[in-house]
Parts: sequence; C-alpha cells; structure tokens
Amino acid sequence: MNKLDSEFAVIAMNEADNVAIVVTAGGLGAGSVVRTQHGAQPVALINAIPQGHKVALKDIPAGHPVIRYNVSIGIAKEYIAAGSWVHERLLTMPNARKLQNLPMATAPQPALEPLTGYTFEGFRNADGSVGTRNILAVTTTVQCVAGVVSLAVKKIKEELLPLYPHVDDVVGIEHTYGCGVAIDAPDAVIPIRTLRNISLNPNFGNEVFVISLGCEKLPPQRLLPPGSFPLVDERTNTEGPDHICLQDDQHLGFMSMLQHITEGAKPHLERLNARRRETVPASELVVGVQCGGSDAFSGVTANPIVGFAADLLVRAGATIMFSENTEVRDAVEQLTSRAQTAEVAQSIVRELDWYDRYLERGQADRSANTTPGNKAGGLSNIVEKAMGSIVKSGTLPIQHVLSPGEKLKPSQKGLVFAATPASDFICGTLQLAAGMNVHVFTTGRGTPYGLQACPVVKVATRTELAKRWHDLMDLNAGRVADGDISIEEGGWELFQRLLDVASGRKTWAEHWKLHNALVLFNPAPIT
Ligand code: CA
Repeated sequence: MNKLDSEFAVIAMNEADNVAIVVTAGGLGAGSVVRTQHGAQPVALINAIPQGHKVALKDIPAGHPVIRYNVSIGIAKEYIAAGSWVHERLLTMPNARKLQNLPMATAPQPALEPLTGYTFEGFRNADGSVGTRNILAVTTTVQCVAGVVSLAVKKIKEELLPLYPHVDDVVGIEHTYGCGVAIDAPDAVIPIRTLRNISLNPNFGNEVFVISLGCEKLPPQRLLPPGSFPLVDERTNTEGPDHICLQDDQHLGFMSMLQHITEGAKPHLERLNARRRETVPASELVVGVQCGGSDAFSGVTANPIVGFAADLLVRAGATIMFSENTEVRDAVEQLTSRAQTAEVAQSIVRELDWYDRYLERGQADRSANTTPGNKAGGLSNIVEKAMGSIVKSGTLPIQHVLSPGEKLKPSQKGLVFAATPASDFICGTLQLAAGMNVHVFTTGRGTPYGLQACPVVKVATRTELAKRWHDLMDLNAGRVADGDISIEEGGWELFQRLLDVASGRKTWAEHWKLHNALVLFNPAPIT
C-alpha cells in the first residue's frame, strides 16, 4: 500500500470491501463526503461516525454480507444505506468455519529473497540460543515459596547486583502452580512444561536455580529432570538442577532461608557477569508478536507493519511466532492454506480443534473474546478482530506449529504458529516458554503491558494514543493512517528497532520497570 493521501478520511482494506474505517481523529459528522484510497465513488455520511468505526460504501440489502478484508465479517440484519454507520447491532456474526475440508498447504509458496548482513549484539548461551538480556532467573516449584523468593530477589538486587554490573536483572519466576492441582491429569503437561521451558529462556543464560518447598506435588526433579537443561554448574549433582529446599533441616528460620538463597545466587551471578555481548546474525532473533486492547486501527496500521516486519524477519532467517487461538480461529482457512506442508496444516487444525473443545467444556466460544473496549474502538465482533489480528503473521508460509508451553527446537526457524490463548499475559508467558527473546505488542485502546524476562516493543495503532502515552508507546503506527509513512517504511522501522532493542536499547516498559505477572495456562483440574 502506498502512503495515504490526506484527503481520504476513510480506509478500506480491500477493493472488494463494502465498508471502510473512519480515520479522522474525533470522527466525522453527518454530511461529510468521503472516498476510499481505492478510488471508489464518494459517499456522503448519513450518520455521525466515530473514529475507527465503519461506514457503508454501498447499499447493503438485509441478509447480505458486510465485507471487510475481503471476507464476510457479518450479515446485515436490515437494509443498510450507503453512508450509514455499520455498528455491531446491525450485524449477525457468521458461524465459525468447520475444521473439515480445509485447504491444506495450497497457497503458492513464494521464492524468498534472503535478507543478509543484519546483526545485533547478543549473549550467546551454552545451548546455542542467544539472549537479548542477561538476567538471573530464580525458578520456583510452587506458589508457597513465592513470598520468600520475592524478598530474596529484592535482597539480591539491593546487595549483590551492584557487584555484578554486567547482569541486567534478577527475576523470580513466581506462579500459582505446583500443588493443590491434579498433577497427573493429561493437561497438566501444559503448565509443567511451560515452567520448565521458561526457566530455560535464552535471556536467562542457561543458569538454572530453583527454590522449592519440600512437600509439593511438583518437586525440582519433576520440573527439571536430568537432561532437560544444560548442566553448566559443576557443583550440581546429576540428579537435578541447583536447588534450595526451604524445608531442609539446615534452615533455622526465615533469615537462614534468605541467606542460603542469596549465597546460592552468587556462582550464577558470577558466570552471568563474565559474559559480554557479541555480534550475532539477525537469524538469532526469536520474536513473539501479539496484540491487546485492539481497535479497528489495529488491523489497518500496527498489525500490517508487524506483518511486513515478520516477512523481513523470516527472510533474515529469524524466528517469528504468532499466537492467540481465538483471534485466528476465523481465519483458519487462510492459515491452513498458508501452511508450508500438509503436516503443518494438520497441526494447525489439531491445535484449534483442541481449543474449540476446551472452550466448549466451559460453555464458551470464540465470541467471548471481544471486550467492551474492542467494540467501542470500532470492532464489531471476533471475525473482524481476527481478520485484523492475523495480519501480524505477514504473508509467508507457516513453517512450524507449537502446542502451548512447548519450546522451539534450534532447527525451527521462520514463521511459527505457537498456539496460545489470546489473554495478553498467558500468551506472553507461553511465548517466553517457547524461547522468545524480543516481544512485539500492538495496542489501539492502550495498555501499559510489559514483561520482566524479555523486552516488549509496544506499537500504537493511532497517533492520538502515541501522543497521549508518549512515554509508554515505543513506535507510532498511526503515522500510516495520517499519511506520513507507508506500511513498508513502518515495517522496516520496526525491524531495525527490534535489532536495536535486542542489542540492549531499552523499551519504555523497561525504562519504567513496568511488568505484568507471568500467568500459566492450566487447563487441568485444581484439587
Ligand atoms: Ca492478546
């Protein structure tokens, strides 16, 4: 798409669309005449229409589809005259596409022009992965130890961290799992492997340091069995990771626990502190993308920029993950046809089918995804949200699929569908487990989201948000709607920014030390 001419107050995503989005800040009054960038006939607005909301470009008879992104986002409940405000109350949502007879790996596979010569400054790890930060993680087996670990981490940061200036941070991997749960239920594999794989995230330098209670269902030997992690600590026996158990006889009271944890952290900090950044190819990036607090601009400005950058990353040999099951479900045909092989397409169907049944068990469906804020921002339903969300994955073939909590294998490069819930915190947590070393997060309504383990580059969909939240948003994709930059220019800017951030440039969330909690996805029973 070329730069927008400022005369166009509305944007249509496809020439076939019969609705377009009002771009003008503050919306447009009745009587305003608008024309899309596709050169369609000018239309006079019948109603006042808020920014981000849809205007009918043509008369739409009752029972006919409302088309955006060249797909039906709903059926008109009544006659909609050209120039009308098309809001969610005028639409019936289409049924979800059945998961049978899907096109499997049918899309043409483009010849990729490799993108070479791009590098960043990262920390090489013993297991071959590359960190973008140098962080000591203190893994916990169970929520019971979280209070002690939180105070121990505070003590380590205050007393020890200044002595190890090349270590960026100390992070307690705190969570609500570990006991009081059906540990042998089939679905328990998800939270357990999530925790295991988070402690092996590239930003933690392969240092594994575990605090346990002693009577929990998830002991360290089960969380991190021998062979599941690189044994970088020679003092550690081969029966499990370096670990401190709070119920051990050696601990005489709370202060003794704090002292042991602080002492135990020292060898890990020493090894981390000896590391330096080195120049590595862009192919070592593992980028997780997601959106949160979406509006109608998410799919027009920010997500297309992320999609363009996603294609660049794949061409540079990097790994890029997109996720959010309920936000891709309505685009399943597009996903299965874009799969590189029939096996990959089958894996996409397997994950979405499992998730359909998970939602059914809770008597919910994908439509439960949209929030009041999404609707106020112009998104009528999950179909429209999904079409705007999927744009983040770019245009190239989907090469791999991960189940929730799984970790990428070193060979799994390129575009990956990491199946996760769309909840911002759960998606981010699962992408960390997959091995993400940089995170991209697009937002239209605005959310101050951040993670402790990994830099989060936040992309605003509108200039108004980027200005109001000037010290929270890292990139302003609203310039696309303003006509100041093209999607290609925005995509290159984001690509370059990811390399800078991977090399140590701080994001706003890091600057303010803003971060959300890790939230495990536990579909298994609690006992
Ligand atoms: Ca999300």
